[in-house]
Amino acid sequence: MNADERKALRDAADAAKGNGYVTLLPGILVRLLDALDAETARADRMERTHARDVHAYMVEKARADAAERTVDGLRSELAIQDVTLAVVIAEKDEARAALDRVRALHVKREYGHAEQTVCDRCDEPYPCATVRALDGSEVAR
Ligand SMILES: [Zn+2]
Repeated sequence: MNADERKALRDAADAAKGNGYVTLLPGILVRLLDALDAETARADRMERTHARDVHAYMVEKARADAAERTVDGLRSELAIQDVTLAVVIAEKDEARAALDRVRALHVKREYGHAEQTVCDRCDEPYPCATVRALDGSEVAR
């Protein structure tokens, strides 16, 4: 029931009173009360719907916040692992460079006959103990 309808009912009630048609009043009052009841019920339904919507929103918001926290956690874990991986790669490259420097010192040199070779650094028959240790064919003591 809109404001115009309510005003029309009020006007009709006032006119009935002024004209002495008091018998119309109970019917008008019943219609007004029915309209008021309907409006109240509609307002209650809207309020319940709104409460449900708010609750659903809060539940979804909590889920979204939790998911965001999980993503943030994973992101920082990944960043830590990236740094760890970079350190491991740098250490591996450093170790590889050290091995290359050692191998560069212990190179084969021909000695006397063409079949005989010695280590240029150790003067031992090639491969020397250092080269054998690098190759894994000799364990250093
Ligand atoms: Zn050597």
